[in-house]
Amino acid sequence: MPEKLLQIEPAPPRGDWTNPKVEFRKGSFCYSAAPKNITYLGLPNPRKWQPFDADWQLPSGWKDTLLGGMKDRLNRYRSFRLFMDICVRCGACFDKCHFYLGSSDAKNMPALRAELLRSVYRRYFTLSGRIFGSLAGGRELTEDVVKEWFYYFYQCTQCRRCSVFCPYGIDTAEITLIARELLDSIGCNINWVMEPAANCLRTGNHLGIQPHAFKDSIEFATGEIKELTGIGIEVPINRKGAEVLFVMPSADYFGEPHYYTLLGYLMLFHEIGLDYTVSAFASEGGNFGLFSSHELTKRLNSKIYEEARRLRVKWILGGECGHMWRVLHQYMDTMNGPADFLEPPVSPITGTRFENARSTCAVHICEFTADLLYHNKLRLDASRNDCWNVTFHDSCNPSRAMGLLEEPRYIIKQTCRSFHEMPEDTIREKTFCCGSGAGLGTDENLEVRLRGGFPRANAVKYVKEKHGVNLLACICAIDKATLPTLMEYWVSGVEVAGVHELLGNALVMTGEKERTTDLRGEPLQKGGQP
Ligand code: SF4
Ligand code: SF4
Repeated sequence: MPEKLLQIEPAPPRGDWTNPKVEFRKGSFCYSAAPKNITYLGLPNPRKWQPFDADWQLPSGWKDTLLGGMKDRLNRYRSFRLFMDICVRCGACFDKCHFYLGSSDAKNMPALRAELLRSVYRRYFTLSGRIFGSLAGGRELTEDVVKEWFYYFYQCTQCRRCSVFCPYGIDTAEITLIARELLDSIGCNINWVMEPAANCLRTGNHLGIQPHAFKDSIEFATGEIKELTGIGIEVPINRKGAEVLFVMPSADYFGEPHYYTLLGYLMLFHEIGLDYTVSAFASEGGNFGLFSSHELTKRLNSKIYEEARRLRVKWILGGECGHMWRVLHQYMDTMNGPADFLEPPVSPITGTRFENARSTCAVHICEFTADLLYHNKLRLDASRNDCWNVTFHDSCNPSRAMGLLEEPRYIIKQTCRSFHEMPEDTIREKTFCCGSGAGLGTDENLEVRLRGGFPRANAVKYVKEKHGVNLLACICAIDKATLPTLMEYWVSGVEVAGVHELLGNALVMTGEKERTTDLRGEPLQKGGQP
């Protein structure tokens, strides 16, 4: 019941925060990674264990492994050393994390979360810490500290909201990623990250969908489009020499409401005659490596580029995904780039050169579509979306990692006739996370997700009550997978959709029959403003 989770008291922690003991209560943690996935990924210490076990079966020499790993990263990443040294505890980030706001657990304050690692850094890597220990803010590295790291660094969605408010630009997501890398090095990782990553390397996508099932799914989608519009379309798969490789998150062709976004993409590409292909190998835009380590991020990112090279395309168009875009915009260049075997993207329809994508050669579908709309290349009937009164959730990564703020709004405002923004401190670069990103979107972790998603849901509730909003649009596969549960719990009566579902509804395709339903198969209610 919502009332139960609302019983939170934002107050200073009782007792000594340096005590690392945590309780692995049902609903508050993710299950451990299955040994088969750890083995497949070539990571250390595969074994059967769970976080609530007293004995985590850590490998011998685990303490040296962690301290050695920390030392290595302090030497390799100047940012990590800086983030360990420069926090002045000003408090600007304290109340900016959705997990803190939803739980009032002080260790979910961004600065204190980082302090869990920083205190160990101080103890072993600073002179004062080595001499004065706890007097200098140092903590011993014990098994309980390892358990505490696991608990709290898997209660951070790497969303980077706190970083927006930090005067020093401390990026807690980077700290969390390094903490998770260290935990990986002794075999402490979660299945909801490791299984999708292993699947992605084995079959091409997080869901483990085989190439023939991928093909069937795409063909099923074209059948639905034919039924809706009367237009038969072809979707090329693995076609060499196409101009564009289109890569989407796998949930788009297997999940709901994602699937309606897929219909929107395919209708758009057919209508503009795009010379493109999808790939059964690069059948995943998402990159769960980002929730585990830099190394795994790099491995998964390289798949897309190797496939672009093999298919001899000119550039890459990417679908509505969240962390795919953080990887592309912030890591791709130094990990696998520049993609100098591709060409700087140019829209074949408008001639627009996407200068921002010169190095990665990857354009976001919202940039591409907004450009088409700006140049009046699409015919739209926005009244087909009249059953929706829309608000927009800025997904953390496209908004904060790449500044994709205007394009989705531009598309929504042209394809829908009723749109209302949530309060300004909860949108754009200050957007609140869905509470389930970075691998936390699993059912055993539901209490944490609902608590973490509370600030987002609260802002939706505001526009629902003030303006009658009934649709939360977004451009991230994890959002589409997890926001429906969040809405059902906190704000019932609000559905979730991708922006290209709205586009697909409104798009007037050449030669289409009169539509009687929307992409969800619901009767059209033109003029039926809710
Ligand atoms: S805002 Fe930055 S400097 Fe201030 S307490 Fe938070 S992390 Fe430290
Ligand atoms: S979940 Fe987001 S706001 Fe909270 S500590 Fe992590 S990066 Fe910062």
